[in-house]
Amino acid sequence: MALPQNLTICFSKRALRDIERNIAQPQPEQGGALLGPIGQPLISHLIPDPAARTTGASYFPSDQLTSKVQEMERYHNLEFKGIIHSHPGSLDRLSGPDEEALAEGLRINPHMDYFIAPIVTRKGFFSGALGEHELDLGQTKLSCYMGYNRGSRIEISPVPVQTVRAAMPDRPEPTTTLAPSAPASHSPSFAFSRFEQHLKQAVKHLNLMEDPRFFPLVQDGVDLRGSTVQVEGGLELLFMAGGGYPVAAPVLLATLEDGNTEQLQMPWSLEVPAAERLTRAMKDLLSGSGPYRKGYGVILGKSALTDNPERAAIAGWSGRFVAEDPAVIQAQVREGLFARSQGLLSQHIRQKRVLIAGAGSVGSYMAEQLVRQGVEQITLIDPDGVELANLNRSSYDLADVGRTKVDALACRLLNINPGVEITRSPLDLFDHDPETLASWIEAADLVIGTTDQPKAQQALNRYAHGLGTTALYVGLYDGAQGGEVLLVIPEKTPCYACAAATRQGFQEVSSSVDYGTGRVSGEMALVADIHHVASGAVKLALALLLPPEAEANLKAFVEPLLESGQTFLTFSMVPNYWFYPQLLGQVPGQFAYQSVCLTPEKSDTCPVCGAPEHRIDPRSIPLKAPAVTDLRAVLAEAS
Ligand SMILES: [Zn+2]
Ligand SMILES: [Zn+2]
Repeated sequence: MALPQNLTICFSKRALRDIERNIAQPQPEQGGALLGPIGQPLISHLIPDPAARTTGASYFPSDQLTSKVQEMERYHNLEFKGIIHSHPGSLDRLSGPDEEALAEGLRINPHMDYFIAPIVTRKGFFSGALGEHELDLGQTKLSCYMGYNRGSRIEISPVPVQTVRAAMPDRPEPTTTLAPSAPASHSPSFAFSRFEQHLKQAVKHLNLMEDPRFFPLVQDGVDLRGSTVQVEGGLELLFMAGGGYPVAAPVLLATLEDGNTEQLQMPWSLEVPAAERLTRAMKDLLSGSGPYRKGYGVILGKSALTDNPERAAIAGWSGRFVAEDPAVIQAQVREGLFARSQGLLSQHIRQKRVLIAGAGSVGSYMAEQLVRQGVEQITLIDPDGVELANLNRSSYDLADVGRTKVDALACRLLNINPGVEITRSPLDLFDHDPETLASWIEAADLVIGTTDQPKAQQALNRYAHGLGTTALYVGLYDGAQGGEVLLVIPEKTPCYACAAATRQGFQEVSSSVDYGTGRVSGEMALVADIHHVASGAVKLALALLLPPEAEANLKAFVEPLLESGQTFLTFSMVPNYWFYPQLLGQVPGQFAYQSVCLTPEKSDTCPVCGAPEHRIDPRSIPLKAPAVTDLRAVLAEAS
C-alpha cells in the first residue's frame, strides 16, 4: 500500500452522486459514513446519517450509522474509510471539534491506516480554482482531509482526490482456502442443477410471485445458466450462475420499474451451508438496508416515504423497490415542515405527544395543524365513522367515507409527515379499559378534549388532572356563534369542572350552553367559525408544548395568560353575542369576531382540583355504568 503521505483518494461516480444528493443538497450540517473496497484508496459507497445530532458547528454520527456501517462491511466486502459532513458558510477546512473527532476515529479504529474526513461547502461567488484536494459537486465542493498515525502523533492534512468511473474494482483475494472439490462438481451441469434447485427453494421460501424460468446463456465464451425472477414491487432479478456455483455467487442484475438496471453484489458467505446460501443472500438483499429495499409511498418517482408496511397500509401506499433509504426523505420532509416557522417554534415539539379525544370538525383540524407544525406523536380517540356530512368542516375527503375517523385522520397525517407515530382507538371514551386510558393520558404531554359530549369532557378532566397532564378543552355552542378554549394545568389553574361552573354564572348564555360544550356535531355551523376557535386552540397547544429551554417566540402567547390566571378563552363569532355587549358595548369599532379571556374560579370542594379531602381518584369512578341487563342478571342470580 502507498504511504499515506503519497495517497490519492478516488471517489466513484456513484459515491459522488450520493454525496451530492444527501450531503450537499440538504441544509448543513449533514453527514454520513464513507466505505470502499478493502485495502484500496477508493470511496465507493456513502451511508447517509439523517438521524445524526448536529449543531451549527459540529456533527455527531448516530448509533444507527454504526450498525449500518457494520452491516455493509459484513455483507458487501467493504471497509469503513471515514466520515464526511457539510459545513454552513464557506468553512472548507476541518474545525477544531472536527479534528478532535478525526483523531478519536483513528484511536477507536486502530486497524485503519488512515481516516478520511471530507468537508462539503457551498462554493462562494469569488472562490478561486479548486485545490488538488477538492472536487466540484455543482453548487458545492468537496474538500478532502485525512488523518494518520505518524509515530505516536496523529498527522492531519489535505489529501489529493480524483473521480473514477468504476463503482467497484476487483475484490481482494479471498482469505478462505477451499478444499479440492469432489469430481462430480467439476461438471457445469451439476452446478446448474444445484443452482436451479436452490433458486426454486429461495423463491418458495421468500414467497415471491412465480416460479423462476431457467435458460442457457453464454457470456465471454463461458456457458452459464440464467434465470429471471419477478419480485412484487416492480423489481426483476436476472441471475447468471457459472460452473463455480455454489462456491462462486451467481452474477445478479436488478432492473427497477423505471428501467434502470444495475449489477448487484450478492452477499455471499461460504460460512452458510451451500443449500441455504442463495436463499440467505436473497433475503439479505431484499430486506434491510439495500442496495434496494422495499419502500412504500413513492414520491418524486424514486424515494420511498416509509419502510413500515403497517404505516403504509393506513396511509394507502403501495410497495415498490427503491434505491434510497426512507430515512433520508423523512428527514427532508421534517426540514420542510419546520422551514417556515424558525424562531416561532422549535424542533422540541417533535418529541411531544398529543392525545386528541374527538376527531370531528375541531379535533381533525387541530390534529392536522399540529402535524403540519411538526408534532410527530399523536394519540387519536373517536368511535365514529366518516360520513358525507362531515366533509364540509373536517379534514376528511370522499375516499375516507365509511372508514373510522381515527383511520382516516391517521391516513391524512401520514400523508403530511410519513414519520408521525400514531396510536388509534376507534372506541367511545367510556368503552376504554380505565388503565389503558390512564396510561395514554399519562404518556401524553398534552390532552385535547374536543368530544361533543360534556360527560366525556368531564371524564377527560378527571383523568388528565389526576395524572398531572396539561389539557385543553375546546367547545362551541349555538351553531358556533360562541366558543371557548379552556387551559388546565394541574395544580396551577382551576380545572375544567370549575371553569364550566364559572360559565354557568353568565345568565345571558347559560340557557344556550346548558347542553354543554362542543355540541356542534349535528348543528348548523360554518367551518370558518369552527376553525376560528380551533385555530386559537392550536396556537395555545403549540405554545404549551414548547419547553422552557426552547428559543421560540410563540411561548409569549401563553405566558401572560398563565401569569394573570386568565386561562378561559372565549370567542364570539357574531356581533352582540353572550356577555360581549355588556363588556365591549361602549368600545368603538367592535363587531364580530371578539375574544375575551376570563379567570375561572376554583371551588375548594371540587372533586377534581379542590382540597385534598374532597378529591376522588378518577379510576375509582367507573368509566361505564353496568348495563341494565347485567344488573338484572346479577339480581336474578341473587334471588
Ligand atoms: Zn465540522
Ligand atoms: Zn375543579
